[in-house]
Order: sequence, then structure tokens, then C-alpha cells
Amino acid sequence: MKNKNRFTENLTVQQLIELDACTQCGECLKYCPIQDVNSKPSISPPEKIRVFKEFIKATEGLKARLFGPKDIDGKLLEDFTKAVFECTTCGACGQHCPVGIFTQRLWPTLRKEMVKRGFGPIGGQAKMPEVIKNTGNPYNMPAQDRFNPWFPEGVKVLEKADIAYYAGCTGAYSAQPMVRGDVLVLKAIGEPFTMLPSEEEVCCGFPLFASGQHDMLEDLTKRLTQAYKAKGVKLLLSSCPCCVNIMSRDWPLFYGQELPFKVRHITQFAAEALKSGKLKIRKELSERLIYHDPCYLSRGVGVIEEPRIILRSIPGVQLIEFDRCGLNSKCCGAGGAARKVYPENANAIGRATIGEAVRKKADRLIFSCPACYAQVNEGMQNEDKRIRITDIMELLSSLVEPNEKSTS
Ligand code: SF4
Ligand code: SF4
Repeated sequence: MKNKNRFTENLTVQQLIELDACTQCGECLKYCPIQDVNSKPSISPPEKIRVFKEFIKATEGLKARLFGPKDIDGKLLEDFTKAVFECTTCGACGQHCPVGIFTQRLWPTLRKEMVKRGFGPIGGQAKMPEVIKNTGNPYNMPAQDRFNPWFPEGVKVLEKADIAYYAGCTGAYSAQPMVRGDVLVLKAIGEPFTMLPSEEEVCCGFPLFASGQHDMLEDLTKRLTQAYKAKGVKLLLSSCPCCVNIMSRDWPLFYGQELPFKVRHITQFAAEALKSGKLKIRKELSERLIYHDPCYLSRGVGVIEEPRIILRSIPGVQLIEFDRCGLNSKCCGAGGAARKVYPENANAIGRATIGEAVRKKADRLIFSCPACYAQVNEGMQNEDKRIRITDIMELLSSLVEPNEKSTS
């Protein structure tokens, strides 16, 4: 039987092995965006692992079994909670860890443990479950405004179809040029698609998962999965890497079985449409573009090449790269539900992204994630260094041949 007081209760066997495997080598420190802007030792990956292992030792180690568990100082638990919640869960530390610790999954699991103990979540994150329950999104925005302000006129959305499009909360409320671009590209491809009504397209659960608040996840997953199943959906598309990540990796667990549809990022669908000729680019763009790989898209679900296929397909484009790209990409500062809680970190990391793009003389910085898009735009406010920021689907939609057959 599970003992809910154990620090290991939420950890998988793999994660227990990973904790044990950390050699404290410090290799990961070179890649941590938070260490770049705030080098508090408590936030470092090896220190978080060391402290958490101390908690386990004190409560479940040999001496604890023989003589009873030790009490852990409340301040230590509080400080650890702050450290584990300040991380952006970008996963760069795990990507470079010589023993292969999957940190993009480990840190949210440790957060879940601290939430269980009443130490997390931090700041406004605590309001998210109630806000999502009331409005369907974590931004406390009216459900009826989810699509109206940006949904392009003349695009036909079927009641039922094999393909469904999920806009996601961050796209719908904070990165509207991106979701508008998604829909225009789908229209240009000409494949019929469906969507849920705005009141039914609720949060995918990612911000709750990332902040260790798991109580509603099963319910959200089941509501959304059953709604798409009722529409006969075989393929669910979204442009939000965090949505795609939780849908493909975690929804089957919360749903209790394999999903009745596949989940793909919209760049995968658009790149295939370009290859097959269903989507045609009709305009040139003589610009140097720099593409930023979102952490949950590159390291998260391995989508690295497709956005580049799209950008290289645009006549006249010169595609340049950040020093750190692909699996090695650097966080934009927005991840891990930490953006609003630690805005100084997020903005400082965002400014570094802009700085490198400007230094490399890019004409535009291209994103494929609503959180990156919103965060870096925010980080640029009141800054001298400025660059034009465009979402990849926003850009593509402005260059492709419209498909008039798919209008109503
Ligand atoms: S996941 Fe990213 S922010 Fe968090 S500790 Fe690792 S490198 Fe740092
Ligand atoms: S790179 Fe891996 S083994 Fe080395 S300190 Fe970081 S987490 Fe531990």
C-alpha cells in the first residue's frame, strides 16, 4: 500500500534511479537559463537533487526505518519549494546531463510532491485550478471571447471531421496572430477540420501539470478527449508545444487508455502539406530569419526539422540559427508556469534571446510557441534592442496561396 507521507510517493522507479545517478558533476549548470540570470546556488539542478535526496534519506533511509523518520525543518522545505518552482522546466540540464536525467519530467514531479505537502504552488499559480474551473482557462478570461477576437472570417469549421484544431489558452488570449495564422494555413491547405465550441475548448491541463497541481487533470483530459471522439476526430492539431506535449505524453495516462486520435504540432502538418503540394507559397521574402526552438517542442516532442522545412521553403529567406538550437535550444524564459511568478527572470532571459537575434543581424525572430511569442514581446518592452517578432504560422499564412474552396 502507498504511504502518502513518503517523499518518493510520486516518483517512478526510473526517477529514483535518476536521483541516485546524479554525480554532482555540475555539467548542467552551463546550460541553465536561470543560472545565467540568477545564480542562487539553491536553484541549481545538482543542489535541488542533493536536497531532495536528503529529504528521502531523513524519512525513508535505513536509519529512518530503524529509529523512525526525522522531522525536516519547515524553512528548508520552503526554500526547496521556491527553488524547484523557479525553474522554467526547460529540460536543458537533462539534455546535457552525462547520466541522462530526464529533468523536464523530474522537476514537475518534485513540484507535485511539494504541492501535496502544502508548500507549493507559488503566488498566482495557486488560483489556477479555481480559475480554470470557472472560465476554462488559466487567464481568467471569458470563455465566449476565446475565439471571437481573432478567428478569421470566411473559414468553414465543420461539425464533425477527421482533423480537429485546438487553439489553446495562451494562443487564444495572448498570441492571437499565431492562432489566426494557424487557421488561415489550415484553410489554405484545404483539408476540412472541426473545432470544439469556445466553452468546450478548455485548458489542456499543462499549467496545472507544470505547477504540480494534478487534481483536475483527469477530468480535463476526459472532457476534451471524449468531445473530440464524439466529433469523429482522428488527428488533433495544435500550435502550442506545451499542449502538444501534455496531450501526446500524458493524456493517455489520465484518459486511462490510448487516445482515439493522434496529436501533432501544426508545423508537422504544414511541412507535409508543403511537401505534397497541398500548400503552395506564392510570395518571396528577402529577409534573414532566426528561428527559436521552443523547449517543449524540440526537447519535449522532438519537432526540430519541420519548422525549418517551412522557413527554408520560402523563396528569398536566409535562415540563420541561434548558437544554441535544436535539442540544445535555450529557454525564452516563459516556461514552467514560472513566467508570471518570476517575471524578472523571464524578462532577463527573453532579452538575451532578443540580444542574440539582433547581434546576428536577423530581420525577424520567428517563434512556434504562444508562450515564447508572448514572453519575448513582453521582454522587449522598454528595451533599446528591438526586433520584429513573428509566429511561424502567422508568417506562412501571409505568404501562401489561399484556398477559396474551403471558405463558407
Ligand atoms: S530545467 Fe532549465 S531552468 Fe530548470 S534547472 Fe534545468 S536548465 Fe535550469
Ligand atoms: S549534469 Fe546530471 S549528473 Fe551532473 S550535476 Fe547535473 S544533474 Fe547531476
